[in-house]
Amino acid sequence: MNDLTLKIPGFLQTSPWVNIFYLLAAVLFIVGLKGLAHPRTAVRGNLIGALGMLIAIVTALVGEHILQPWVIVAGLIVGSAIGAVLALKIQMTGMPQLVALFNGFGGLASLLVAGAEIGTKGSFASTQMTVSTAAAGLIGAVTFWGSLVAFAKLQGLISEKPLLFKGRHLLNIALGLVVILLGIWLVAKPDLVVVYWLLVVVSSVLGVFLVTPIGGADMPVVIALLNSYSGLAATATGFVLDNTVLIISGSLVGASGIILTKIMCKAMNRSLANVFFGVLGPQEDGPSADDVYAGKIKSTSAEEVAMLFDSARRVVFVPGYGMAVAQAQHAVRDLANLLEEKGITVEYAIHPVAGRMPGHMNVLLAEANVPYDKLKEMDEINPFFEQTDVAIVIGANDVVNPEARNNPQSPIAGMPILDVDKARTTVVIKRSLSPGFAGIPNPLFAQDNTLMLFGDGRAMILELIRAVKEG
Ligand code: NDP
Repeated sequence: MNDLTLKIPGFLQTSPWVNIFYLLAAVLFIVGLKGLAHPRTAVRGNLIGALGMLIAIVTALVGEHILQPWVIVAGLIVGSAIGAVLALKIQMTGMPQLVALFNGFGGLASLLVAGAEIGTKGSFASTQMTVSTAAAGLIGAVTFWGSLVAFAKLQGLISEKPLLFKGRHLLNIALGLVVILLGIWLVAKPDLVVVYWLLVVVSSVLGVFLVTPIGGADMPVVIALLNSYSGLAATATGFVLDNTVLIISGSLVGASGIILTKIMCKAMNRSLANVFFGVLGPQEDGPSADDVYAGKIKSTSAEEVAMLFDSARRVVFVPGYGMAVAQAQHAVRDLANLLEEKGITVEYAIHPVAGRMPGHMNVLLAEANVPYDKLKEMDEINPFFEQTDVAIVIGANDVVNPEARNNPQSPIAGMPILDVDKARTTVVIKRSLSPGFAGIPNPLFAQDNTLMLFGDGRAMILELIRAVKEG
């Protein structure tokens, strides 16, 4: 024991109390997760989960590791300050990068703790401990380096393009085999800590090579999967330390991360294998933008759209990534209020992968105080587009691209979409005819019943508000 440690003789050191507090924390995690499943209970769920984490951390630090209180408080202050600054500074559109960093640090923490523990125990380590240590080193390093690459791609620090080279699959298999051999060596000779760090180095290279061949477009799915890995790394470290709450919380993160990955893949109609080994992008022989748009685009003005509202009874807003970029959600809510005052029914059509992270649109619209019951999921609203007078697509592109339904060769073929092309009139607000995430043209823009309102999302909605008021 060094001078940072404090012996607490009290009740907390006796394991029944530690375990009771751990059990309480685990129950709070599960109740918190349940709350997160619905927007109405999400904030409470988040707070309940955070309370569970506080109880788990304090119990672990005070009850097990018996650190000096000032070390605990200093750690809490530094960690909270970094977390608060990051959360306040990061834009909503940068959320996937932030989550990537958080996952990465989770993996790093797991591998460092496991390494420190095996270094202390040496040849006294049990087989459970050595196997778990090897697992924590492997998963932790892959998570950390994979997340850093994902962060760098999304932040534009390195090219978003897939970095492909011949033999990359073979290289990854070879690296995986080396890691397994090093793991076996560590189990046989736990006092050779250098083997553990070697395993970490090789796993780090593997983490980099696993993520660099994946394009920026698929990074959010990769991040969800790495989130799951960070949970598994924590679980492995939980077995190293024999710490129940770490095993439980790691398993919850691991399971929820994999469920989220599956939901995202399903909403994009892609398999996980396709995300990892396929390349998303425009197909070589697909239609060019000229083929799709030439001579068929009708651009409109705010005044013309305001006139459409005069005879409309039902308007549906269809938000996408561009609404997040333009930060137009408050303006959209103001326009919706104005339309409702005129007796028009207003709803919002939410696609599960609109934007750049699951729930992106829900979060933005909730921030603008749009009532939850006006947000309609894809399956619920699709049958009603035919009875919709005006669909206002703001900054959405791929999630309303009829190619997904009509062209089996399209890179987004089979992805469920919002059927805005069936509305009586569709107004698309975006700055140009640039493609969305998938990089392909969108025939919706060239349809007879589509009007393009070119400009920044927020500026155009403000123009519409002005035009409606003047009209
Ligand atoms: P898209 O990426 O398809 O299109 C966004 C559009 O927004 C662009 O065409 C762009 O056109 C426009 N835009 C950008 N900035 C502005 C602005 N300031 N004002 C107005 N418009 C703007 O977005 P979608 O939401 O339709 O689709 C999401 C895509 O992301 C899907 O392909 C999905 O698979 C993918 N994805 C989503 C994930 C998720 O979890 N949500 C995860 C992984 C991938 P222009 O430049 O002309 O303005």
